[in-house]
Amino acid sequence: MSDFQHAQLDWDEHGQPLSRGFGDVYFSRASGLEETRYVFLAHNALPLRFAALPAGGRLSVGETGFGTGLNFLCAWQLFERTAPADTRLHFVSVERFPLTRADLQKALALWPELAPWADALLAQYVAVHPGFQRFVFAEGRVVLTLLVGDVLERLPELDARIDAWFLDGFAPAKNPEMWTPALFAELARLSAPGASLATFTSAGFVRRGLNAAGFAMQRVKGFGQKREMLAGRFEGTPQEAAKPWFARPPRPAGPREALVIGAGLAGCAAAASLARRGWQVTLLERRAAVAEETSGNPQGVLYLKLSAHGTALSRLILAGFGFTRRLLQRLEPGRDWSPCGVLQLASDAREAARQAELAAAFPADLLHGLGRAEAEERAGVALDSGGLFYPEAGWVHPPALCAHLAAHPNIRLLPHREVLDLHREDGQWCARAGETLLARAPVAVLCGGAEIARFPEAAGLPLKRIRGQISRLPATAASRDLQTVLCAEGYVAPPRDGEHTLGASFRFDSTELELTAEEHAENLQLLREISTDLAERLQADRLDPAALDGRAGFRCTSPDYLPIAGPLADAAAFAEAYAVLGKDARQVPQHPCPWLDGLYVSSGHGSRGLLSAPLAGELLAAWLDDEPLPVPRAVAEACHPNRFGLRRLIRGK
Ligand code: SAM
Repeated sequence: MSDFQHAQLDWDEHGQPLSRGFGDVYFSRASGLEETRYVFLAHNALPLRFAALPAGGRLSVGETGFGTGLNFLCAWQLFERTAPADTRLHFVSVERFPLTRADLQKALALWPELAPWADALLAQYVAVHPGFQRFVFAEGRVVLTLLVGDVLERLPELDARIDAWFLDGFAPAKNPEMWTPALFAELARLSAPGASLATFTSAGFVRRGLNAAGFAMQRVKGFGQKREMLAGRFEGTPQEAAKPWFARPPRPAGPREALVIGAGLAGCAAAASLARRGWQVTLLERRAAVAEETSGNPQGVLYLKLSAHGTALSRLILAGFGFTRRLLQRLEPGRDWSPCGVLQLASDAREAARQAELAAAFPADLLHGLGRAEAEERAGVALDSGGLFYPEAGWVHPPALCAHLAAHPNIRLLPHREVLDLHREDGQWCARAGETLLARAPVAVLCGGAEIARFPEAAGLPLKRIRGQISRLPATAASRDLQTVLCAEGYVAPPRDGEHTLGASFRFDSTELELTAEEHAENLQLLREISTDLAERLQADRLDPAALDGRAGFRCTSPDYLPIAGPLADAAAFAEAYAVLGKDARQVPQHPCPWLDGLYVSSGHGSRGLLSAPLAGELLAAWLDDEPLPVPRAVAEACHPNRFGLRRLIRGK
């Protein structure tokens, strides 16, 4: 069984939540709001520090125990009231037992004063699953990275520099497993120089443990009836650096301006993540509009190919699903996307066994098995088997998502601009088509799928193109009964705008984009394998493959199936700087990485760009702006462009 659990709550006669597991309250019965303001906000000096943030400045808060989000909402409210306009708040919080949405709503209803902030949190409180879950509020001024899991598992995965700590998490006597030297060491590792820390407890072993980890802690007057609490500062030395090839590149000099090349999902997402942070972005696209190539299919499926073994790809997918799913909350259901669920059919015994393993490893609200009868009821059509149901997934109209992302006042879309040449001149990347200078900026992000190989700086990245063709099938009265996306080898979605999308073929050797009758015929065969009943309802046998409508595009994949998202280094200088790894892979030469100043990439999203591309935009922005990473450090490294150069050195390939 998955060890994930929602918080189990009891409610007292005043409607206040209590944790059944810990036997403790979430906040002070007297006044949760006032206690939060006193203990966490005032003793981290946040009223003053928010007000004193410089233009473009950011403050990062870290918290143990998100609970009802009361501390977060109070910090956000204070930030909004006191911080200058051009500043940002980044809040990282760990929670082992997230509240269900219904419990969160009930708990937050206790604070009418916080309603605007609580409503915004509730509107985004979907797909909160284990791992890193990122939320964007207030047009990007406030970002929450919720780490779902035990503090002692999640904090070691975090790459961040925290300016102010809220050490919450139930009384030490009721939760001794959390308040340990290992936790205090993590807080120290993640602290910015001089980081502040406040906690409601005054327990001696907590004070001594924090002191031993490098914090200078003092007992101060506690809130209300409480005699004492602890407050202090980090006086130790900052965290150790990552290996140089995965270290954070220096922040680019010059104005905060970026070129993004390619306005498919990866490019629109990268542009949006930068624009929300105040970057001026020029989005260059060779076609007439966003999403005219592979991201232009009428329906894409939120198809989570997870592993029960916690691989980097699986963790990325889960974090990406949450992030994309919250983005979709801002779009129009029915037209732009549909939360109709996705049913992965258990077509054979092997697939059924794989599904059983997944059902045991993940929470039921993310995925659960359905027997054949239940699956048919869900689907609205007859099926040959049951399967694995993802209730929060569904289909998306990718062009709508791209348009939503690109519609930011800081983004200037330049259509009909095909960048043929990119050169660094006087600290700027200059994008040209022949003699014509299209745009220039200190930062450039390559988002053109496999086409990025045309730029010599990216030519060494091992990207492959796999052609895929989808078929568009006119809905019939009988096919409209289909209620959920069905997936086996292929997939078919409930209709959007009178048409079902059916996909998709695989062609490993083709570089053509013309539609072929052969691939339409293959897709129809995939449909029959999904459900003969649905195929009949769609009158598949009467459809002429040569007359079908559809679309073809290229999936762009990397050899390890992970996307490529991050900063680029000079390949030759990289091989030279770290050549010693070819002899001894355990060495960590201290040469700084030969970064290509300000050059970044987001590509290799394969057929699951809907899940990985939006989060990759956040990852790029985090590298560029020296922010907390939106995924575990190991996942960011697994997606890093330098992984290939490193493997080449180590394996001698
Ligand atoms: N800060 C919260 C708020 O504003 O509502 C209140 C926090 S509540 C007192 C403590 C929280 O810590 C609970 O939600 C609990 O599930 C969480 N917690 C306790 N032990 C934990 C652990 N080892 N790892 C992660 N979270 C933990």
